[in-house]
Formats: sequence, C-alpha cells, structure tokens
Amino acid sequence: MSGKVLIIEDEEKIARFIELELIHEGYEVEKCTDGREGLTMAESGNYNVILLDIMLPGLNGLEVLRRLRKTSSVPVIMLTARDAVMDKVSGLDLGADDYITKPFAIEELLARIRLVLRHNGAGAATQSDELTHGDLSLSVSRHEVHYGENLIDLTAREFTLLQTLLENKNIVLSRSTLLERVWGYDYMGETNVVDVYIRYLRSKLDDVYGVHIIQTVRGVGYVIKD
Ligand code: CA
Repeated sequence: MSGKVLIIEDEEKIARFIELELIHEGYEVEKCTDGREGLTMAESGNYNVILLDIMLPGLNGLEVLRRLRKTSSVPVIMLTARDAVMDKVSGLDLGADDYITKPFAIEELLARIRLVLRHNGAGAATQSDELTHGDLSLSVSRHEVHYGENLIDLTAREFTLLQTLLENKNIVLSRSTLLERVWGYDYMGETNVVDVYIRYLRSKLDDVYGVHIIQTVRGVGYVIKD
C-alpha cells in the first residue's frame, strides 16, 4: 500500500524516524513542525493520511483538527501522550480517525495507517458489519458471534474485546491499548483484567472448538492473525 502522508510533529527526532520508516514502506512523506503551517498544508488536500501531534507551536493539534474538519475529511491519526486522556477523547470527538499513544512501536503506527487507508480507500463501501476469522463470524449490528453454525454466548465485554481484536487483525494490541479500547480511558482497575477476559474468550472458543484464535505475543499483548 502506498500514499502520501503529512507528519505534523514538532519533535524532529520523532518526525524524522517516522518519515524514514514510511519512506521505507513506500509512502511519500512531507512534514512540518508548526501547527499553523501544518493546517495550511493539510488544507491543500493532497494527502492520504495526516499524522498529527497535539502539543505543537503555532496552533495545537486539536485546534488544527477542528479547523481542518470544516473543509476536509482527510484521515487523521493523532499522536498523543500517555495519560493525555482528554486529548484522545477530544481528538476523536473532533473527528480524528484514530490515535496512537507515544511512545509507540513503529509497527503499530504502520498498521494503523494501513487500516485508516483501507477504511477510506476504494474498498470503503464494502466495509462490512460482519467480521470473520475462519469459521468465526461476528456481526456488529446483531451483536452475535457464531462459530460455524453455533451461536457463542458472550458477555458484552467479551464481545467488545473480540470485536476489537478482529477489527485490528494482524496488529498486536498491547494490554494498555486493549484496556483503553475495551474498558475505556478512565479504567482504573487491574491491568490483568485483559488476560482474564482473554481466558474467558478462549474457554468459550478455543477450548470448545479445538482452535487457536487469539495468539499471545509474550511481553507485548494479543493478536488475531490471518
Ligand atoms: Ca509536540
């Protein structure tokens, strides 16, 4: 996959690192370190995806996004600081397509860019309510999970966890990413709740059907791989 990416990030080392990785992946890249200049570039409309830092000189990232959304629906991925809960919430409210928390693994950023491009590309119209993996199928609108013909009885939390993993197929999701996405930004409980719910899912799927759907990536998190 290729496309043109704009990086608006004032930490030049980070911006340079992302730029090199993206070029290596075949993307065309432009970058700038100032919010106001970034907005002007973003409004030119020539980008497939924009990576937008929040704390920026000139104009902060949220304000850049708010102004940009008046004229453009270009995909935007926010680069947010750990613990900056309000920034994530505000960013998504203002129309960001996704966010990634710094520091991040470059693989996760690349995967998020591919995902955003896929959702906004030519295939967007075919984006389906049905998420599948082998014999496993999850219907978002019916809130049902089937394995082959069999209806799987999941709690709401188990369902959301499975949905999140299926929506991010081939992306290793860390425990903290899963906590944020499934339990919410303000979850204050134990982080091992993720492991506990993964076990619940496995007991209802893997153990019953003799499959190995959710893979553990030791020290990192969980993934459903094609
Ligand atoms: Ca910054």
